[in-house]
Amino acid sequence: KSKSVYSRTMITRKKTRQIKVGNVPVGGDAPIAVQSMTNTDTRDVAATVAQIERLSEAGCEIIRVAVLDLEAAAAITRIREQITIPLIADIHFDARLAIASMEHGAQGIRINPGNLGGPDKLARVVAAAKQHRVPIRVGVNSGSVEKDILQKFGHPTPEALVESALRNVQLLEALDFDQIKISLKSSDALNTLEAYRLLSSQCDYPLHLGVTEAGGLIAGTVKSSVALGILLYEGIGDTFRISLTRDPVEEIRVGYELLRSLHIRERGPELISCPTCGRCQVNLFSLAEQVERHIQNIETPLKIAVMGCVVNGPGEAKEADIGVAGGHGVGIIFKKGQLYKKVAEDKLLAVFLAEIDAMIEEARQN
Ligand code: SF4
Repeated sequence: KSKSVYSRTMITRKKTRQIKVGNVPVGGDAPIAVQSMTNTDTRDVAATVAQIERLSEAGCEIIRVAVLDLEAAAAITRIREQITIPLIADIHFDARLAIASMEHGAQGIRINPGNLGGPDKLARVVAAAKQHRVPIRVGVNSGSVEKDILQKFGHPTPEALVESALRNVQLLEALDFDQIKISLKSSDALNTLEAYRLLSSQCDYPLHLGVTEAGGLIAGTVKSSVALGILLYEGIGDTFRISLTRDPVEEIRVGYELLRSLHIRERGPELISCPTCGRCQVNLFSLAEQVERHIQNIETPLKIAVMGCVVNGPGEAKEADIGVAGGHGVGIIFKKGQLYKKVAEDKLLAVFLAEIDAMIEEARQN
């Protein structure tokens, strides 16, 4: 299981109130939860469950599904029967869908309280949330900022996003509801950063971080890592999603790499590999890729190095538990920077993977 390595960092986490999404605590001193959202048609139960299973294997801890109609809301019952992580229903504009989602077992809903069609409808949604003990995520983004707030600020500035979020939160508080989590997303990394900083200084509800419409694998990873990385380093954020125009499983992988880089949480082996240079005499890209694929869903922490040459490889990777360095027709397997075994290149991958498996098994026993 994931282990917290907070003590290794200088991060002082902002203390927020804790809520529970299903059995996952969010906020307070709970681990920062990694989320994603399915991109299947929620009414297609088999496809949605299959995707959630893949996400969950990769470490996704809370999943959100879009609920576009009553059939999708009803599908939640059958989806929940087949998954183990908590499910949040994402709803826009329609109070009926929010209520139906909770009746069918959604463990959280994401709404904009101000756009559900008026105070009566919001009151019915909040009553259902109380009855089913379901927290509400107030999800504000650049496109959802109310007209009068937009007029006041001219653009969906960080201040505008925060004012919109707090106005929506007050609608819930007025109904005596406090099981709240807030997100305010912009597609601009620095706007997102400023908005969350401001919001965090003004309330102690748990925050869900994200940059919306962040982009593809490279652009989305960089944009999200800049905004979320800085926020998490400042101790802000209780749960997050890396949005990518990609298979959502990639979002989870990037999410854990982000947490690992900040020494906040560690999940699974860490792969370090050299960029290669003129000294490299093996097909290192292919070797690194195959090792990466092999360890994808393993939860045990282990530091693995894949290096291009024996000149610098073992030395550069001496912190690694196990590593391989390419040579001329051979590979050198090393452990903690010390030579362990020389293997012919054609057998290298198989032997190295077997050694990794053995070390993981050993780590599991301990
Ligand atoms: Fe170059 Fe060797 Fe360093 Fe890789 S480990 S970058 S091949 S010197």
